[in-house]
Amino acid sequence: MRPWAGGRLVIASHNPGKVTEIADLLRPFAVEVVGAAALGLPEPEETGTSFAANARLKAEAAAKASGLPSLSDDSGLVVPALGGAPGIHSARYAKEVGGFGPAMERLHRELAAKQNNNDRNAYFVCALAMAWPEGRTLDFEGRVDGVLVWPPRGENGFGYDPIFQAHGQSQTFGEMEPQAKHAISHRARAFTKLVEEVFAKP
Ligand code: IMP
Repeated sequence: MRPWAGGRLVIASHNPGKVTEIADLLRPFAVEVVGAAALGLPEPEETGTSFAANARLKAEAAAKASGLPSLSDDSGLVVPALGGAPGIHSARYAKEVGGFGPAMERLHRELAAKQNNNDRNAYFVCALAMAWPEGRTLDFEGRVDGVLVWPPRGENGFGYDPIFQAHGQSQTFGEMEPQAKHAISHRARAFTKLVEEVFAKP
């Protein structure tokens, strides 16, 4: 079943990096996307305890406020050696230290402080929620595994991209061309599932 009936779709995010990536990923499906900030929608507090719960909360709030189907993304970087940090707090972890440059340094420092621990594994998770104003919500999740590198490399992408190198790649997400990142990213993987279920190619 493909429940997309056409028309406008709200991207329930105030993060311009994410809105751009989502718009790119939806380009083949002739969906008219509009960002939550452009509609003046409030940003709900992310009180959930999982990526999926926070994605749901944002999509349902945007659908209710706009009366339009809404898609949200809750994502983050999980570092098992740090007990899963920054995880669902990935954005806050950066905000607390004044941006992603200092946040990447903070991660590097915290990992280095782990004695006898060479575990540099990390993964990005993306939970997508698609909510309709009538009250239906669907969830999808994608993940990409890799390692954290130091120093940061590359100016592309956003967030923690310059220190994340996916398994099988020689470049960080920050060095990869957007199309190459989109081919393997956590967001792309979650999108593949969303698209299969919700959108049809024109
Ligand atoms: P959210 O807006 O609460 O979902 O926060 C997601 C945060 O996770 C972002 O601000 C970034 O810190 C991080 N993040 C999620 N996806 C990516 C990605 O593709 N590259 C780099 N950082 C990401």
